[in-house]
Amino acid sequence: MRIVLLGAPGSGKGTQAKLLTEKYRIPHVSTGDLLRANLAAGTPLGLQAKAAMDSGQLVSDDLVLAIIRERLRNPDARKGFILDGFPRNLAQAQALDSMLANIGQPLDAAILMEVDFDILMQRLTGRRTCENCGASYNVYTNPPRLDDQCDRCGSPLHHRADDNEETIGNRLRVYDTQTKPLIGFYRDQGRIETVDAVGEVKDIFKRMLTTLDPIAKGQRKVVPLVKPQPPVKAGKTAAPKPSLKAILAAKASAAKAPAAKATAPAPKAAKKSAVKKHKKKDKKKEKKKDKKKHKKDKKKGRKKDKKKKRK
Ligand code: AMP
Repeated sequence: MRIVLLGAPGSGKGTQAKLLTEKYRIPHVSTGDLLRANLAAGTPLGLQAKAAMDSGQLVSDDLVLAIIRERLRNPDARKGFILDGFPRNLAQAQALDSMLANIGQPLDAAILMEVDFDILMQRLTGRRTCENCGASYNVYTNPPRLDDQCDRCGSPLHHRADDNEETIGNRLRVYDTQTKPLIGFYRDQGRIETVDAVGEVKDIFKRMLTTLDPIAKGQRKVVPLVKPQPPVKAGKTAAPKPSLKAILAAKASAAKAPAAKATAPAPKAAKKSAVKKHKKKDKKKEKKKDKKKHKKDKKKGRKKDKKKKRK
């Protein structure tokens, strides 16, 4: 089963994905988790993603796509996967479609987890995660028995750096403008399923299973509302995808290059070539005019000669 969990930050995608992974034995692939792991390990990728993550903006598509491409190549993803936090915009969704079309394993469904705005805020500001085993809590709705300590393994609980009010505001705005359009995108493909994601975790999980069981059994048919566009075939028209290493190297060298050279792409040269083009055009026009005039004059000359002869 290959599914995408769609929903605003705080809609419970991560919590449900962990439970679904245990139930269906397919990996939970969270771009947010992968990026945070890179950040914690201080990798070049993590460092490049940091600013966007801290401010609640999206990390660049090329980095995220390279991470996903690498992760989905892992043998554990052959049986299927649960994508959480990816795709986050139309470009990512289209790239995912062509990635999956190339291996002949299209997405089964996109599950939209619906939650009201006020509840999202409460969930995000109260969210705590165990640094060791990944268990999730909420200080308002699902508090740990002991303050800031995991019930399962006793490790300290962590409040995500981007779960502060300012960043949360940005993340919700980004969701509204960039991720929400994916609902229409998957609806047109006939792949959207909606689940009410308000209430107790176990109740939401039951609803998820009601929706997902038929998909896992291959009983759900994908009936597109809109005629699907043919995917770009790899190796034919699409350029080869750069590896994560190549993307990072290119970004690092672009950052090192002198700002003026890197950011000012020769506007003078552009102007010059535009002027040249115009001049060329003008010359062509003049030549045409001359030719026409020459022809006319010739005609007139011939007419005059005829008249003279007749006289
Ligand atoms: P999440 O844990 O899914 O809420 O993601 C945390 C942060 O990681 C987001 O606010 C983004 O900065 C970044 N991020 C996660 N997934 C993506 C993605 N698919 N595209 C771009 N940025 C992402």
